[in-house]
Amino acid sequence: MAFRTVPIPLEVYIKKGAIKNVRKVVEKFGSRNLVLLTDEVVYKIVGGKLETELAEYYSINKFFVNRASMDEAKKIVMEISFSDVELVIGLGGGKVIDVSKVVSTELNVPFISIPTTASHDGIASPVASFKENGKPISITTNPPAAVIADIEIIKNAPIRLLRSGYGDLISNITAVKDWQLARDKIGESYSEVAASIAIIPAELVISEAKNFDLLDDAYITKLVRGLIMSGVSISIVGSSRPASGAEHKFSHSIDYLGYGNGLHGEQVGIGTIIMEYFYEKAYGNGDFCLVRGSLRKIGAPTAAAEIGLTKEQVIEALMYAKKIRRKRYTILEDLNPTKAEFEKAVEETKVA
Ligand SMILES: [Zn+2]
Repeated sequence: MAFRTVPIPLEVYIKKGAIKNVRKVVEKFGSRNLVLLTDEVVYKIVGGKLETELAEYYSINKFFVNRASMDEAKKIVMEISFSDVELVIGLGGGKVIDVSKVVSTELNVPFISIPTTASHDGIASPVASFKENGKPISITTNPPAAVIADIEIIKNAPIRLLRSGYGDLISNITAVKDWQLARDKIGESYSEVAASIAIIPAELVISEAKNFDLLDDAYITKLVRGLIMSGVSISIVGSSRPASGAEHKFSHSIDYLGYGNGLHGEQVGIGTIIMEYFYEKAYGNGDFCLVRGSLRKIGAPTAAAEIGLTKEQVIEALMYAKKIRRKRYTILEDLNPTKAEFEKAVEETKVA
């Protein structure tokens, strides 16, 4: 790989009251003409206040994001393309952040990510996830130029979202093992730096599982920091490789098949238990009880039924997962488990 530069967010604030830094960050970009993307609920709680503050110094347009889709992003781009926007501020949950990434990329201007939830690593990654015609799609975008994660706001979102974020963070454990497998078995290029950035915060939260408390600011901060680092690792490689392996294939399969009612991080959390089981059995470098125990400790689902999935659906999703994105070499490609082996795995891990 040739020497190259990598865009990553250099302005990152993770703390209580971090939203107070928005103006300081905007000032650094030297932009005068801003667009604020948010939704009506967030606008009532914090967005309106932020808009009023910024309007004292800048020209600012506000749009409500109603759907996470390409059409929604294109509609907003059409409406603002004549007004010389210099900076996009996305304030909200995953839907708002994803649309903001696409809008800023289309306009080729910087984007400030201000997540109000921390349910997955999309808060700082260069990838937008949409559903088109009921099927999931991923769009590569520029990464945010800045991330302002206000712990006070994030902790007030439903706790299920934080638990989901925890699941997405610990999925880096099997994702990075898959990447190492691909390096060793098929010679895929591997970045030790990106892998470390993805794995260290995941290992940290697992090692602290016994005390981890998603109602405590210090732990929420560790989780959010980990999710931001996860997004940065994706930016370094230019692919989701460090944060998405077989456990994500399992989750994508559930999405494609349209089964259950789990959130992304809940699905990949359960996927991580299953893939860690295979690492433990086949290579002796996994500990599925540790993964399962840590998810259970923070109250995330560890059984398929908790996210509305039957055992048959889990097995079907696992079989389907072997067929998708085959170029991404994972433990599924390496072991090619049979249906009977999947059944044994979900039984032994008590997933179903
Ligand atoms: Zn994910």
